[in-house]
Amino acid sequence: MEERYTSDVIESKWQKSWEDAKIYKISDDPEKVKYYLLEMFPYPSGKIHIGHVRNYTIGDVVARYKHMKGFNVLHPMGWDAFGMPAENAAIANQTHPARWTYENIDAMRRQLKQMGFSYDWDREIATCRPEYYRWEQWLFLKMYEKEMVYRKESYVNWCEPCQTVLANEQVEAGMCWRCGNPVRQKKLAQWFFRITDYAEDLLVHCDLLPGWPEKVVAMQKNWIGKSIGAEIRFAVENSSEEIVVFTTRQDTIFGATFMCLAPEHPMVQKLSKGTSQEKKVYLPVHGVSIHSAAEKCLFIPPILL
Ligand SMILES: [Zn+2]
Repeated sequence: MEERYTSDVIESKWQKSWEDAKIYKISDDPEKVKYYLLEMFPYPSGKIHIGHVRNYTIGDVVARYKHMKGFNVLHPMGWDAFGMPAENAAIANQTHPARWTYENIDAMRRQLKQMGFSYDWDREIATCRPEYYRWEQWLFLKMYEKEMVYRKESYVNWCEPCQTVLANEQVEAGMCWRCGNPVRQKKLAQWFFRITDYAEDLLVHCDLLPGWPEKVVAMQKNWIGKSIGAEIRFAVENSSEEIVVFTTRQDTIFGATFMCLAPEHPMVQKLSKGTSQEKKVYLPVHGVSIHSAAEKCLFIPPILL
């Protein structure tokens, strides 16, 4: 017997043995109680990092425990593999996004297998494969038929060098978190989901989630952002236009002394025409960073209808 523990020899021997015997393969078994355990599908950005190892180890411990307790455990792995980051990485590495993505998937799968996690690899998915995303497209069409998705023009945080839209969290002091270049506002036609129609359902279910810290539930409720109030229409002096304002405090409306329109409001350019504010607000919004945009709003006196 060898004195030393030669990990590459011993582990690869047993990993192959487990794989050949398909010990983690799962099949339907009506006799057993089902247990579905999904940690997270990683984005195939390159190699597995220690955050993945930590996360998937915790999940694997739970999966093995449940398996030993007699549950029929479905513990799958897959890849959240679509998106702009793959295209940007492909441009930077002068390769094709598909090649880049599939090579990363192969490397990361090899690493996860080395960790000996109890995944049923026959159930592996990659969201960039047509066999997978055809169902996303199908789902989208179903929502479109039900008018749960709609298209409208809206401003987005845009990074020109990355050629991509950024979430607010990805804009740091007016700069792109990825490349450090200035972010500008760009008008783009986009698809929106009518999630506000489901605000009530989502809120009710927040209170039905067992075991979540209060802080997380509160964050979720704030994100849903439901508030009860009224839409109030203000007339604009010397104009037939009306400004619709949503407020939760309609009882304080007579205290309103001025009104402020955001620079991207569709009425701003029309209302400011020929006034002293025209030049200030008529700056093409393209040149305005999100941080200075609030200073460029249009002030007008309110008239309640
Ligand atoms: Zn960028």
